[in-house]
Amino acid sequence: MPFSSLGLNPSLQKAVRELGFVRPTPIQTEAIGPALAGRDVLACAQTGSGKTAAFLLPILHHLIDRTRRTTRALVLTPTRELAAQILEDLNALAVHTPVTGAAVYGGVSMGPQEHAFRSGADVIIATPGRLLDHFRSSYAKLAGLEYLVLDEADRMLDMGFLPDIRRVLRHLPARRQTLLFSATMPPLIAKLASDMLVNPLLINQQRQAKPAVGIAQAVYPVSQDLKGPLLVRLLERDILKDVLVFTRTKHRANRLAELLVRHGLSAERIHGNRSQSQRTQALAGFKSGRYRVLVATDIAARGIDVEALSHVVNFDVPAVPEDYIHRVGRTGRAELTGDAFTFVAPDEEPDLKAIERTIGKVLPRVTLPDFDYKARPQGKLEIPLAERIAAIRSRKADERGRRTAKGSSPAQSRPRTGDGPRHHSRPSGPPRGRRRRP
Ligand code: AMP
Repeated sequence: MPFSSLGLNPSLQKAVRELGFVRPTPIQTEAIGPALAGRDVLACAQTGSGKTAAFLLPILHHLIDRTRRTTRALVLTPTRELAAQILEDLNALAVHTPVTGAAVYGGVSMGPQEHAFRSGADVIIATPGRLLDHFRSSYAKLAGLEYLVLDEADRMLDMGFLPDIRRVLRHLPARRQTLLFSATMPPLIAKLASDMLVNPLLINQQRQAKPAVGIAQAVYPVSQDLKGPLLVRLLERDILKDVLVFTRTKHRANRLAELLVRHGLSAERIHGNRSQSQRTQALAGFKSGRYRVLVATDIAARGIDVEALSHVVNFDVPAVPEDYIHRVGRTGRAELTGDAFTFVAPDEEPDLKAIERTIGKVLPRVTLPDFDYKARPQGKLEIPLAERIAAIRSRKADERGRRTAKGSSPAQSRPRTGDGPRHHSRPSGPPRGRRRRP
């Protein structure tokens, strides 16, 4: 079916053509017609399926001929990166129309976002926490709202946004069209949907989540300590070209990026402890090809859309099968073919089995010829917490021993010599009482 048969405004069809979209993806084929007709939609659609255009195109179509300066559509999304990506998609699709959009998310100043409310951007794309921050002020009224989209609803719930979403709903007119997109449909989403949607069209609801077609998936069994050297070797041999690498923790993301740079490979990292400008810079550098490798944690990776990304590497096996599907959905997007490799240490095999059960197939195990799988690793990527605590305790015990030997009391301060590192003790994790918002 060609795009022209969907009945979209010619200026949208022109933009779609310019973007090189030849025909609608299956989710677009199913969702656009009913959404144009005003129907609520509940769609099970993964990242990479073309879902963003599936909800943006009908909304843009309806907004083109409306008066300006009233926000009529709100897209709720879990992360800043996804909000920025959706705004980028909106700007591309709306390029031949007068429709405007703005993104509203935390980590950047409120001023320009306040302007978006005051000037009545047609579409606001927001993360729930920052949107609620704005709702405290009188300028942020969405009384003219007609369209609401919840994107990646399952992820928003995983991130604990359900109470925020319910609070946001209290600020919106009850009469509106609602489109809810989710990669999976757990009972909580079904309940939210039944509270929010009126007689919705259900799309793909029964289908089990599966990675997008076109992805060649393989597993590299390797010991935990040799994962870094294996990744370096795959990059050095050009088996991996541009690669998005997922690690389990921010700490591992940092250490891995350092390891790659030490081997002369261009790499950056993106995770929740990095500022918005650092994330934007890392992502832009990766997209432009300045960095071959982007190391990311899961949450940060939502919304990363890099055209023709050749590879995704799961440096650590995701603990939740749905995360695997989301991650590998970054490659092989809309008809491109990419590879997804997963490094599996022996203790991660049970998690891998759970993934294989979910996607309904056993992933092929591969080994890299002439990589020394028995080599002695040069240092660990991450020192286990128990070992770190034991090291701190033994250092403190040594210090106490030295002080006792010198006959000084523990309360006496020792003069610093000025050389050697200062050991400040700093609690790990975010400061207490501060709420983190994406
Ligand atoms: P999404 O699932 O919305 O994140 O979209 C995944 C990717 O598919 C994005 O890079 C889109 O630009 C692209 N895309 C969306 N619709 C189409 C289409 N009909 N044909 C080709 N690519 C598309």
